[in-house]
Amino acid sequence: MESTDTIIQGKTGDWELMIGLEVHAQISSKSKLFSGAATAFGAEPNSQVSFVDAAMPGMLPVINAACVREAVRSGLALNCRINRRSVFARKNYFYADLPQGYQISQYEEPVVGEGEITIDMPDGTNRTIGIERLHLEQDAGKSLHDQLPDKSLIDLNRSGVALMEIVSRPDMRSAEEAGAYLTKLRAVLRCIGACDGNMQEGSLRADANVSVRRPGEAPGTRCEIKNLNSVRFLKQAIMWEARRQVALLESGGTVSQETRLFDSARGETRPMRSKEDAHDYRYFPDPDLPPLLLDEAFIESARESLPELPDAKKARFIREFGLRPHDAGLLCADTDVSAYYEETAAQCDPALAANWILSELFGLLNKTERAISESPVGPGALAALIRLISDNVISGKIAKDVFAEMFATGKAPDAIVAEKGLRQITDTGALEAVVSRIISENPDQVAAFRGGKTGLMGWFVGQAMKATGGKANPKALNEILQRALSQES
Ligand code: MN
Repeated sequence: MESTDTIIQGKTGDWELMIGLEVHAQISSKSKLFSGAATAFGAEPNSQVSFVDAAMPGMLPVINAACVREAVRSGLALNCRINRRSVFARKNYFYADLPQGYQISQYEEPVVGEGEITIDMPDGTNRTIGIERLHLEQDAGKSLHDQLPDKSLIDLNRSGVALMEIVSRPDMRSAEEAGAYLTKLRAVLRCIGACDGNMQEGSLRADANVSVRRPGEAPGTRCEIKNLNSVRFLKQAIMWEARRQVALLESGGTVSQETRLFDSARGETRPMRSKEDAHDYRYFPDPDLPPLLLDEAFIESARESLPELPDAKKARFIREFGLRPHDAGLLCADTDVSAYYEETAAQCDPALAANWILSELFGLLNKTERAISESPVGPGALAALIRLISDNVISGKIAKDVFAEMFATGKAPDAIVAEKGLRQITDTGALEAVVSRIISENPDQVAAFRGGKTGLMGWFVGQAMKATGGKANPKALNEILQRALSQES
C-alpha cells in the first residue's frame, strides 16, 4: 500500500510535505460565462460556439448572472468572505485553444475571498484547511491531436465555459489530506449543485503545488502538477513528486520551479514547462467589463438557496441515527449516497442500514463500476432485506447471498428467500434434533468440551450450521447447544 505519511524518510533524515491545491470547477450553468452559447458535454465539435467564444473582432462579453450566483453560493458554502466588488482581468498568453489570446479571469480582486473547509480524515478526525480565494474565469477550448495524422484540430465548445478556480492555502501536509480536501470540496459543490463534480469529464480538476522541507524550516521550491482528474491520481502524483524532490535535494541538487504533468499509466510526473510567475501574464483589468458589484439582496438570496451542507448533514446523521463519525462522513460525501441512506434508514434499523450500504452495496457498486443512482437494489429493497435480518427470518450471513442475488437479478428479498428455502430454523424441536445427533456422533469433542475445552463451542456451532445449510437461528442454536453440552450424559 502506498504510504501517505506526513513525514517522508529520506536517506539523510526526515522531510515534511507542503501541499496547496488549485481546483478548477466547471459551473453547472446552461450557458457560458460571457456568452449565450450552450455548455452541454459531448456535443458535436464547434457546435456550441458564439462569436464571443470564437473571439471575433468587436464582440463584447456580457456577464452571466447565473454563474455569478453559483460562485457566491459556493463561497458561502465554503465559509468564505464574499467581496461586494470584484474585477475581471485579462490574463495574457498565447495558446492555440485560446482564440482571444487572453483568458478573462480575476486577479487582484476576486469575487470570493478567504475562508476555510473542514476535512474528514479516514481515522475519524478533522482538520481545517484555509481557502485563499475563489475566482471566476473562462475555460479554454480543446486541442485534438489524435484525429488526423499530421494536423491538430480545435474544438471551441469549451471555450468560454464558466469556471471557478478555488485556491487553497498550502496547509496540507500529506497526500491523504489533499485527497480528503478534494473529496470534501467536491461534496460541497455537488451538494449545492454549483458543479456536477464529474472528474472523468473534466468538470472538476486539480492542480497540486508540492514542495518539501526539513521539519520547521522555510518552505522549499514548489512544483505544480497540472490537471489531476481523480483523487487516486492526486495522491499518487503528490507522493511520487515529493519523493523525486527529496531524492534530488539529498543528492545535492536543487528543485526548479516548474509545471509538471502526471503520467497516470507510469505513475510518475514529468516536466511540462518552466513555471511562469504572475507578472509574465501581464494581467490588467478587462476594459470591456465594468467591476462586478454585488448587493446584499443578491447575496442573501444566494444564502437562502443553500441546502443542508455535508458538515451539517453529518452532524445530524450522528445525532439522529447514532452513526460513527467516520461512517457518517462517508455517507455524506455524496448527495446521492446520503439520500439513499436516509430513505433506507427510514424503513429499517439505521445502524444496520449504514453498515450494509458502506460494505455490501459499495462493494458491489465498485466491482461493477456503477454509481449509486444506477444500483439495481433500491433503498426500499435493501430495507426489506435488513428487516428480514432484524426479524430473525434469515441470518446476516445468508442475507449476503440474498443481497448478491438481488443485485444480480433485481428480485425482491422475500421472493429469493421463499424460492430458495432460506428461512432460518427457529423451531426449537428441529434444532434440538440436529444438536442431539451432533452430540451422539462426536463423543470425543463432547468429552473434551465437558473437560474444560470450552473453546470447542465454535466447532459445535459450525457443525450445526453445516447440518442446517447455515439456516439455524444463531441465538436459538447457541442456547440449545449450551444446554445440551452442559448436561451430564
Ligand atoms: Mn485558472
